[in-house]
Amino acid sequence: MSSPYATALIVAAGRGTRLGAEKPKQFLSLGGQPVLSHALSAFLRHPAIRRVAIVIHPDDTPTVEALIAAFDPPPGVAVSICHGGSTRQQSVCAGLMHLADRALPAGALVLIHDAARPLVNRDLIDRAIAAAAAHGAAIPVLPVTDTIVELQPQATPRTLDRARLRAVQTPQAFDFNLILAAHKNAAQTGADDFTDDASIAAHAGHVVATFEGDAACFKITTAEDFALARQMMNPALLDIRTATGYDVHTFGPGDHVTLGGIKIPHTRGVVGHSDADVLLHALTDALLGCIGDGDIGVHFPPSDMRWKGAPSEIFLAEAVRRVKARGGEIRHLDGSVLAEAPRIGKYRDAICSNISRIAGIDQSRVGLKATTSEKLGFIGREEGLAALATATIALPL
Ligand code: MG
Repeated sequence: MSSPYATALIVAAGRGTRLGAEKPKQFLSLGGQPVLSHALSAFLRHPAIRRVAIVIHPDDTPTVEALIAAFDPPPGVAVSICHGGSTRQQSVCAGLMHLADRALPAGALVLIHDAARPLVNRDLIDRAIAAAAAHGAAIPVLPVTDTIVELQPQATPRTLDRARLRAVQTPQAFDFNLILAAHKNAAQTGADDFTDDASIAAHAGHVVATFEGDAACFKITTAEDFALARQMMNPALLDIRTATGYDVHTFGPGDHVTLGGIKIPHTRGVVGHSDADVLLHALTDALLGCIGDGDIGVHFPPSDMRWKGAPSEIFLAEAVRRVKARGGEIRHLDGSVLAEAPRIGKYRDAICSNISRIAGIDQSRVGLKATTSEKLGFIGREEGLAALATATIALPL
């Protein structure tokens, strides 16, 4: 059987800042990437998913566009965004209309997923697609292990029969046309208090099937949930890689050198095609080495006039993007500057801070040392300066 045309609709329009953070939870960092990126990555990596649409709040458009640009979607997989409404139901409806405008083939399926469930995985997506293909409407459920009670006014809470209860998760999976019509029906009849899409399908008269959920795919609501998600995902990043980089540039006319993106006054300048920042060049090569993805010259050929005088930050940022596009996390960046002069001690904090900003890691994960060459060799003769760098990253196994 050929696999059905499956799409994913990720709902990320919420403004919830219950975690006490300054931004909505789908943009908080989890394992070095925004929460939203994890679900996006899981759907993009799944071989049956042909299109992903993300429903967002208009204010988040630049953030989400940048986040999407950080991924290399597999060939033939489209990613798009659309703006949601003031409730989850309105947002999902807007997302379905957006997909409807894209002329999906007959029999297309849609998996509707909350961005706040970052640990969705391939097996769960497999089960969702199979259940939607078989039943037209299906939801992932988990047995309830706690005893559940129903509060009674001025009376003892009533214990429910947990053998008959299930907790409902996402992705909820549907025949696309079925759920689109059900949402339109709900909107037309003014029914606007549904908390999930299965209820909307049921309201339209459809039978909703269930399939096995995954406890790991829990919804992040509280700070404790967030801490648990961190713990659960870190063991998945077990492929630890380390690589080195080395770069040299010649001193020439000028009044400063640029190291780690920071201008340091000097009696001479540095000759190079870009801004000749040996430290950022060495770090870029170290990161590219970690993922076996060529070197700085492969991605930014010196023959390309675009990089003439360019700030080297763009080279390091691209290497960071490539690591993240592989689902990786940068654990540590370390550099050594080899020069008789200038002295960089005064600038160390600014340089480390700038590198941590470009790499999107805490400054405690950036090291920087400097040494002279005891007047020996080309560095000792002050013909140029060099940098060594080491990067350590973690990739998913
Ligand atoms: Mg260089």
